[in-house]
Amino acid sequence: MAVKQFKAESKKLMDLMINSIYTNKEIFLRELISNASDALDKLYFKSLTDTKLGMSKDDFKIMLALDKENRTVTLSDNGIGMTKEELEKNLGTIAHSGSLDFKKENKDDNIDIIGQFGVGFYSAFMVSDHVTVISKAYGSDESWKWESSGVEGYTLTPAEKETVGTEISLHIKANTDTENYDNFADEYGLVAIVKKYSDYVRYPIQMYREKSRQKEKPADAPEDYKPEYETYTELETLNSMVPIWKKQKSEVKDEEYNEFYKSKFHDYSDPARVIVSRTEGTANYNALLFIPGRPPFDFYTKEYEKGLALYASGVLIMEKCADLLPDYFSFVKGIVDSQDLSLNISREMLQKDNQLKLIHNALEKKIKNELHAMLSNDRAKYEEFWKNFGRQIKFGCYADYGMHADLLKDLLLFYSAKEKKMVTLEEYVAKMPEGQKCIYYAAGDSAERLAKLPAAELVLDKGYDLLLLTEDVDEFCLQIMHAYATKDKDGKDASIEYKNINSGDLGLESDEEKKAAEAATAENKALFDAMKEALSGKVKEVKVSTRLKDHPVCLSADGPLSMEMEKVLSAQPNGQDVKSEKVLEINAQHPVFSVLKAAEALGDTEKVKQYSTLLYAQAELIEGLPVDDPIAYTQAVCALMK
Ligand code: ADP
Repeated sequence: MAVKQFKAESKKLMDLMINSIYTNKEIFLRELISNASDALDKLYFKSLTDTKLGMSKDDFKIMLALDKENRTVTLSDNGIGMTKEELEKNLGTIAHSGSLDFKKENKDDNIDIIGQFGVGFYSAFMVSDHVTVISKAYGSDESWKWESSGVEGYTLTPAEKETVGTEISLHIKANTDTENYDNFADEYGLVAIVKKYSDYVRYPIQMYREKSRQKEKPADAPEDYKPEYETYTELETLNSMVPIWKKQKSEVKDEEYNEFYKSKFHDYSDPARVIVSRTEGTANYNALLFIPGRPPFDFYTKEYEKGLALYASGVLIMEKCADLLPDYFSFVKGIVDSQDLSLNISREMLQKDNQLKLIHNALEKKIKNELHAMLSNDRAKYEEFWKNFGRQIKFGCYADYGMHADLLKDLLLFYSAKEKKMVTLEEYVAKMPEGQKCIYYAAGDSAERLAKLPAAELVLDKGYDLLLLTEDVDEFCLQIMHAYATKDKDGKDASIEYKNINSGDLGLESDEEKKAAEAATAENKALFDAMKEALSGKVKEVKVSTRLKDHPVCLSADGPLSMEMEKVLSAQPNGQDVKSEKVLEINAQHPVFSVLKAAEALGDTEKVKQYSTLLYAQAELIEGLPVDDPIAYTQAVCALMK
């Protein structure tokens, strides 16, 4: 019997498969099942026009059998089959379905080639040292047997097969020092692989499985009868065939969705929301998405991988396709099934795939709308969601220079000092009294402390609301958006600036108040210059404040960087050394100011220095900042107590 040589490229590919270090060897079964399913499709299509065939949809199936002793796995289908020529052409060369642009690759890129999916029939050689294919083509009287033990080549001989279809037998490799193949010659192992990758293949994948049952109790059983067991075999369909995401939402009960979610995504709590999405515009797909009820344990770690399971016509091609989800929706779990994707698409090609981009865009819009609907219709649930994943949305606003802020801004919630609950920006704006020009916020780690800041009292006394931002990302998120776009009462476009109450100009004072403070600052120039000098570069300016009522001093920031942002940035691992420009503001009505003036009048420069140190440290404490020179501070306190 003449051994035929493989075509050069096939030989290379097969060599790679045989010696593969590719860890995901189990996909060989998915590949063979997918080929079988295609062959069934082809014959089914013929059966629609050829009544002689006498087959109905229910007759088409894939059979899996295991001979554990001989380490042989057999997969048979009653599909279209292959003629001798087809066996030669299809299995003797790499199939040219665009599956592998093999020629372009060179040997050094082995891993990449193998890392691709859609490796096809040859993947059988990852787990098998001898492959036998017996096939009888539709419309032919002959059957042929194709056999190969690897790169040496293959043989083609006449065979006996009664029915049309293909039967592929794999002799599973023996274990080596580094690789264990036993799972592929094990009933439970094989069943698990079928369920994992091929659960939604349209045709039944069946297997005779050995089971055990209790024997019937004989009528004349003695009193101390112990139940006896017997083994029997039963034909079992391993796959569920109709994917839950292909069913209409009305056909599926909530519990079914919840159960599916929990088993598929290994969560023990129900999802917060189920999203069913179908073909939209030009993107052809079925998607079933879930918003988890709580963050996965590793959600806020580097280990967390975002992505949706991607299926091509019911066949899993990727468990976590990251390209389907934007980062700010990385908490979404789910499945996308598209008939427009080829099983043989490579990872790189997938990234550039236009269809995938269309699906990504459609899903992004859909998720946003669903979250917004949840916000409007089920506020309590949304607030729970916000606690779990709000941070991610806020990061999304800030990321990429605010590119996605427009999409996400309606989803934001912040704590309102006036309402004492979470509010959206829209709600804040809707309740702004006449004359309020900015959206005010205070940023820091404790809402309680923020609400007591001198400037906070000022804003609230005016009847304006104040957002209390307590997460590090919050202020960055608002700052990147700069202003809230809305319509004024005449329906014209308007934008309302976000304003940190620590920033220099709050827009709260009247012109007279401002002028008076400026005049008082000018009057005390000598004193303020001396104080600034005493604080050696810590403040840009010392001035009379318009925002203080009861407190003697406060700090404000001049310029775009607030003190809170400075704190966040410098706490980062690769700590950026950025400083906000601080202004020390003094309450000229406060008794402390008279004490300062008295020291100045006495020409006691040392005292002025000590007072400056004290007041500055005090202002830092009120702001929630660490005292940056605790030694100078305590020395000043001691000196003054003497
Ligand atoms: P691909 O599936 O990407 O075309 P494969 O190497 O997996 O590449 O298969 C090569 C070809 O062999 C298939 O395109 C198909 O024509 C044929 N083939 C494989 N398995 C079967 C089968 N079970 N029944 C009929 N034809 C098959």
